[in-house]
Amino acid sequence: MRRMAVIDLAARAVEACDVPEDLRRRFLGGRGINTHLLFHAVNEWTDPLGPDNVLFLGAGLLTGLPWVGGTRCNFTAKSPETGHLGDSAAGGHFAAELRFAGFDHLVLKGRAGRPVYLWIHDGEIEFRDAAHLEPLNSAETQNAIKAELGDVKVQVAAIGPAGRRLVRWACIMHGVGDAWGRTGMGAVMGSKNLWAIAVRGNGAIPVADPARMMQVTEAHFAQITGTKGFLATSNYGTLIRLNNTRTQGYEGGFNHQQNMTELSAELDSDVFLDRYESGKASCFNCPTHCRHQHEVTLRDGTVKRGGGPEYYGAGGWGSQCGCSDWPTILEAWDYCNEMGLDTGSATAYTAWLMELYEKGIITEADTDGLPLKWGDHDAILGVLRQTVERRGIGALVADGWMSAARRIGRDAHRFFDHVKGLSIECDDVRGHRAQVLGLATASRGADHLRSRFTLEEFSLPEKVTEKLVGVPIPADALSYTNKEHACIWTENVCALADSLGTCKFLTKWLSVGLLGVGEFRDAIEAATGMRFSVEELLRAGDRITNMERLFLAREGMSRKDDAPPEKFYQPWTHGPRAGTRVEPEPFEALLDRYYATRGWDRQGIPTGETLRALGLEKEGAFLADRRDVHFVWNAAPAEGIGTHAAAQG
Ligand code: SF4
Repeated sequence: MRRMAVIDLAARAVEACDVPEDLRRRFLGGRGINTHLLFHAVNEWTDPLGPDNVLFLGAGLLTGLPWVGGTRCNFTAKSPETGHLGDSAAGGHFAAELRFAGFDHLVLKGRAGRPVYLWIHDGEIEFRDAAHLEPLNSAETQNAIKAELGDVKVQVAAIGPAGRRLVRWACIMHGVGDAWGRTGMGAVMGSKNLWAIAVRGNGAIPVADPARMMQVTEAHFAQITGTKGFLATSNYGTLIRLNNTRTQGYEGGFNHQQNMTELSAELDSDVFLDRYESGKASCFNCPTHCRHQHEVTLRDGTVKRGGGPEYYGAGGWGSQCGCSDWPTILEAWDYCNEMGLDTGSATAYTAWLMELYEKGIITEADTDGLPLKWGDHDAILGVLRQTVERRGIGALVADGWMSAARRIGRDAHRFFDHVKGLSIECDDVRGHRAQVLGLATASRGADHLRSRFTLEEFSLPEKVTEKLVGVPIPADALSYTNKEHACIWTENVCALADSLGTCKFLTKWLSVGLLGVGEFRDAIEAATGMRFSVEELLRAGDRITNMERLFLAREGMSRKDDAPPEKFYQPWTHGPRAGTRVEPEPFEALLDRYYATRGWDRQGIPTGETLRALGLEKEGAFLADRRDVHFVWNAAPAEGIGTHAAAQG
């Protein structure tokens, strides 16, 4: 039986209940169930850092099973960074242990009167004082809790100093390298005075058909390890993208001002593997073991060991911030993990500030005397330290880029590359039409993990993509034809993976030979006894995407927010694909087709018919008398971004 605990942090009270089967069937688990519950728990006026925001922790439906790579869980709440849908997934071993401890979902309400951590073990939930953890970083916090509980096998999700100080892009950390990174879930946890969640359990997760489960697991294990790209994924992990983006000319250099840079050849994943990689780690039950471990000697002679990096950090402080010095990249990466800063936002904010400095929009008078020169070690580490310590330019960006842009003025917001308030990744996908569409429509803001049609980069024959997506997708990345179908297929598959707890590196999101919806169906049936057809599962992905769209619509978002960053309309300047840009007319036509195929109106709002077909008419009822409320990116007050402004009339 799957259990949910509703935890009132203010009252130190816990109520446990079963997760209704109907909810599991419609939203599966993880991201799906979290989003549904969040929609009903908050509204458009909820302050993301106020006690009324609710933080949901949800393990995937298949997480913790003997199956291959069911590793993940999601934290979901209203985001203090973007002001709307906040959600972040991570792997590692935490989520499996949560299920062994007897719970699949936690609902974290209210605000504790003083700092606490939760100790969840074998069906019990205890509140423990956490004030003594105040001097510790995120890794030290986890180790201190393990020592306190006398069990090194306890798995911990903890915030660091950034989350405790309510930096709006703070993350939640697990181990030294797993992060619930995006959308500021660490700040939400900090705002609740909840500093960590520790889990340990000896319970078994019931499996409906154990023999079939083992059959399915063996088949999927062979499928994953038998793909041509398995060894490359296993060796390089996400760092493989560092080389791909450099050689193919979409590395997003200098805050996306250059699609190709002339940075040193040091910025290469093989250089990292040869000189800095000290080992590999794996998430729970995953054969791919793609997680890098590193050892690096810093400038002051300190030898540091850590987990990672991922492409986000290597490309982010690399080409995006103009740095090809691995020790600097690794020092910044480790600092973020220790402090609990999201590396995705950290790299984007640093690159943005460097461009503002280059253009004279900010000066050393704004940065506590720190020159923000591209690629400079002291500039990169200085921005991060100032943020955690809330001083200098960090005092501004700790409250989010929009708040900082308002206070800086001089059109500073125009140089921050984002979708729906969330920074884009370091790479620059304006030459991949399905990916641009996915970036623009992604629910939590710019996102490669919910909507990137990765297969677009492999120029696959149309007969291959037709078999997968249902319609032929042109091999030419620059073509706009049928890309709406590629985007919708990706969004639905990603919604499924996030709700099942599956890592996308094990799915057709990455490679056609990996696990797809048919394999998900087989694993679900063996594990839970719930029967789905492939079409029903894809509809569940569709339902989750529509649930998120309703959340955004209630926040006042619509077509105007489904747009790529402004820079994407400018042409690439370097290499054989110079001149490539997003062309407004074909892109808008593509967006029209995407809406029509999804069953949304021309403003990107689900129609009544679509909602009825998905069983979401109750959630969509507000659309009938939708208030004229606009989500404002450029006029948020200094104390927060993404704030609603009620329009006249
Ligand atoms: S592929 Fe890598 S990130 Fe994904 S579950 Fe396996 S080890 Fe973790």
